[in-house]
Amino acid sequence: MLGDIWKSYVQRYVRYSRFSEREEKEGLPYFRDKLFISILLLTFVLGLLSYIPSTYVAIARGENIIAVLNTCTILVLIFTVFYRGLSFYAKKILFSINFFILSIVMFVVLGFEGNGSVLIFALSILITLFNGKRHGLFSILIIAIFYGVLLLGSCFNLFYLPIFEQYEFQLLAIITLNNILFNLLLVFSVSFLINQLHTALLKENELQIELYEKHNNVLEAKNRVEKSDKLKSAFLANMSHEIRTPMYGILGCAQFLREYNEDDPSYQEYIEVIEDSGEQLLDIMTDIINISIIESGLMSTNIKMFNINDKINTVYNAFLPEAEEKGIVFILNNVIAIQDAYISSDSDKVTSVLKYLIKNAIKYTDEGIVELTCERQDESFIAFNLKDTGIGIHEDNFEHIFDTFYQVDVENVNALHGSGVGLTIAKAYIEMLGGSISLKSEVDVGTSFLFTMKVNLT
Ligand code: ADP
Repeated sequence: MLGDIWKSYVQRYVRYSRFSEREEKEGLPYFRDKLFISILLLTFVLGLLSYIPSTYVAIARGENIIAVLNTCTILVLIFTVFYRGLSFYAKKILFSINFFILSIVMFVVLGFEGNGSVLIFALSILITLFNGKRHGLFSILIIAIFYGVLLLGSCFNLFYLPIFEQYEFQLLAIITLNNILFNLLLVFSVSFLINQLHTALLKENELQIELYEKHNNVLEAKNRVEKSDKLKSAFLANMSHEIRTPMYGILGCAQFLREYNEDDPSYQEYIEVIEDSGEQLLDIMTDIINISIIESGLMSTNIKMFNINDKINTVYNAFLPEAEEKGIVFILNNVIAIQDAYISSDSDKVTSVLKYLIKNAIKYTDEGIVELTCERQDESFIAFNLKDTGIGIHEDNFEHIFDTFYQVDVENVNALHGSGVGLTIAKAYIEMLGGSISLKSEVDVGTSFLFTMKVNLT
């Protein structure tokens, strides 16, 4: 809270002092000037707060010179803060001289018991912070000269100061020497710290630039991949169309050829092979077209009212012979009431979803049952449960089972596999139909696909 208020005042001053108009916005000189603004404002606030009590005490103790000096210091400080004609460099010099005079006079009048020597310490640290090591050392040189003059005065009785009575020459010499050494130590430590911070800051800037470049490269690569992905999908869709057209020609001709040599079983068998293989190839092509359109985001829905029970029955009847041929019991358990059967959805996609999933259930079941349960879940959804007693799917594969081209048995050991896109298409369609799909499965026990569809798609 207090921090925010302070920040807003610093920002106002940054604008007032035209610091915000500076062109260079980084580098050590910039940060030092920024630091100086905070030091200047903080000193201004603290100076104002301490002015009245310290001047009052000085007057009460008869140290009028301190009271006058306090007043001068505060006036110069106000001038430094508010006069915009001064450059930042000039402000720093004025600030330093102002407090230098204050600390030296305080020291001369009050000796080591006053705040003078502490202020001298603080000043050289502040100068090192906002102006660098060179200026910090220069301030110590001035302090050393001041202490030297003091010692000469004390040694040769050149002038008189009350402090000479309190401390004999040797003690004065030791204390001033120690002060200078500690001051040196502080200036070196502070400038070392600032340099380390600056190096770390530069390094961080470099890393940020590097990170930014890498991020851009990744974005570029992502765009390239997306573009090539779209091109790939468009190419696949085109190729599939190109292949489908001659395939229809071949199948049409095969049907036509059936009428010849009707009594020759080998001839008829060859025609059947052509037809079966052609149908299979067409199915694969249709899958490839569909997955390409889905992945390029171009798949749309064709919504109309239709009777879902009719669609379910048609698909069921289409697969019943195949199931019976494998010796599997295929059960339809449809409890959707006639009045609930009319839904607004995409009938082709509903049919495709059922086909893809039932085809798999029969394909991956060697014996037992495949059961399709359909019911109205609530006002908005129809729920399906397609259960089989087939080979099952291991839990580890649940996460990837709907990925494009993913097949559990990649080596194709039991040669049951198709192209690995059936579930991907089914899931994409179900989501387009406003529903969701999940599965439960246990290896060698069976699989259940549970999926829903919206009844009122708009
Ligand atoms: P595929 O053309 O290989 O059947 P799908 O996308 O339809 O491709 O299915 C992906 C994989 O999921 C299949 O290869 C199979 O391993 C597994 N799978 C799908 N349905 C069943 C099921 N009912 N029972 C067991 N495994 C299944």
